[in-house]
Amino acid sequence: MAGLDILIRGGRVVDGSGAPPFNADVAVRGERIEEVGDLPDAKAEREIDASGRVVCPGFIDIHSHNDLYVIRDDFKEVFQPFLRQGITTCVSNNCGWSVAPWPADREGLMSSTLRSMGVGVGFRPQWESQSEWHEWMRRRGMPLNFVPLAGHNPLRIAAVGEEARFCTARELETMKKLLREGLEAGCRGFSTGLTYFPGMYAHTDEIVELCRVAAECGARYVTHVRGHCNTYDLAVAEALEIARRSGASLQLSHVFAVPWLGVLATPLYHAMDLIERANRVLPLPGVPNPVLKKAVAQVDRALEEGMDVGMDFIPYVLGNTTVTQLYPPWANQGGTDGLLRRLADPEERSRIRRCVERVKPRWPHWEEGSWSDNYLKAIGWRMLYILSVGSEKNRQLEGQRVWELAKRAGKHPFDWLADLVVEENGQVTYLFGVPPRPWSEKVFTRIQGHPALSVGADVVYPEKGRPPQSAYGCFVRIIEHYVKELGLYTLEEAVHRCTGLAASRYGLEDRGLIRPGAAADLVVFDLERLHDESRFDDPAHYPTGIDYVMVNGTVVVEGESYRSEALAGRLLTA
Ligand SMILES: [Zn+2]
Ligand SMILES: [Zn+2]
Repeated sequence: MAGLDILIRGGRVVDGSGAPPFNADVAVRGERIEEVGDLPDAKAEREIDASGRVVCPGFIDIHSHNDLYVIRDDFKEVFQPFLRQGITTCVSNNCGWSVAPWPADREGLMSSTLRSMGVGVGFRPQWESQSEWHEWMRRRGMPLNFVPLAGHNPLRIAAVGEEARFCTARELETMKKLLREGLEAGCRGFSTGLTYFPGMYAHTDEIVELCRVAAECGARYVTHVRGHCNTYDLAVAEALEIARRSGASLQLSHVFAVPWLGVLATPLYHAMDLIERANRVLPLPGVPNPVLKKAVAQVDRALEEGMDVGMDFIPYVLGNTTVTQLYPPWANQGGTDGLLRRLADPEERSRIRRCVERVKPRWPHWEEGSWSDNYLKAIGWRMLYILSVGSEKNRQLEGQRVWELAKRAGKHPFDWLADLVVEENGQVTYLFGVPPRPWSEKVFTRIQGHPALSVGADVVYPEKGRPPQSAYGCFVRIIEHYVKELGLYTLEEAVHRCTGLAASRYGLEDRGLIRPGAAADLVVFDLERLHDESRFDDPAHYPTGIDYVMVNGTVVVEGESYRSEALAGRLLTA
């Protein structure tokens, strides 16, 4: 075998299909895997000794927002934590957010919407349509492979603007046309974020109509559903209904539900440290989470009926997103700027506060003042941490609990946070939940064993301030925690969820597997030494044990070194 570029010798291959590991050499020519097997006579430009190491396909982050960060000037460095944990492909433009299309006549609304995620401040894109963005990405190059989706929010901003109402027939036609353009440019799915502005104002029928276009083009429906607390089962039922009526395949993003504990929530979350300590002595049962159970039971029924449904999860007891979604839909009319105006007005602010403190989410939230997802009421103030802010002045707030910060300032947490949001011009992201520990994992994320579940890091990575822990450790944690510590997955099952399974959801036939002809996206790691060094309150530490990461046949990570100039990624359009 001549003309090989790289030969990875003597590793234990976990091929991504879920099959048991086997010992083999892996030969790479150009961007592809040439051969897998016992290759004693093969010669290559470069040999990598993988004895005692695992060789597996590069990880696929099935739920990312990387389109928001790849547009940054410092994008090459931004992606270092992703590559250092072995991610070689990401599915991007999730939760309805997307940097394309970029409707030029609604530029203010587009950029103020992105600003709430801490990105795109002062950003002037060089594209309008999805295909122009794809062109720009290809010209500039990218550090890892991107699977683009078409996000709902820019379509709605283009067609309807800032108003909190259903679309007209004409506006729907505009959205359908824009979506078709995006899908024809190669997007592999259509994503919605139904708790964000302006996706939250869409009627089910609007999404069904758009999903019909997706189904015609062979693209999937990918959704952040309309509620993640007590309405979660109804929100998942809506997603399944949309898939059924439109004929589109479905991907349910970041599956989780916060149990609705009513008056018990505050004392329970307050006692979390105590409960965790008790749990170490005598394992305690989790609290019931009936909506999550009901939601997953519906998915199981749909799978039995033969529907094509996939799910993904974030392997933490925390999520991260913009603060705008803590406020009711009517308060978000006009996007970030509309919300800021209302929070700055004392009368409007107290109306919002009443809503946040009193509303138990109802389904759906069409009626005036109604709301399908009141997070704060479900989790309580003690579960809320500031993740990032835009200004240097407030940098020290990052990683701290809102409850304690407000107490120190002598304010009610609602007012403390509202003042911060106004001061930061909307650029505040938050973490909700608790540091991942055994008992809390039982409460929030106990569906990890479901066979249809793949893995997403769901990172919101603001330009200023810190990203969440998952940016540094998500996929290492899957293997370290779920395989080595909990024994929940075998190594081959964990790798399959992070590679082959994710690839199959998006029709990536030549990714996520180690076999001749597949793309040479590879990770070589030491199972013994593998360790996630990132911490909940101090995330920016690279993992240990990841020895090599290869993107399309180019070695991008080698131990501690990261080749930021490589830009070996490809845009994986349909
Ligand atoms: Zn989401
Ligand atoms: Zn997301």
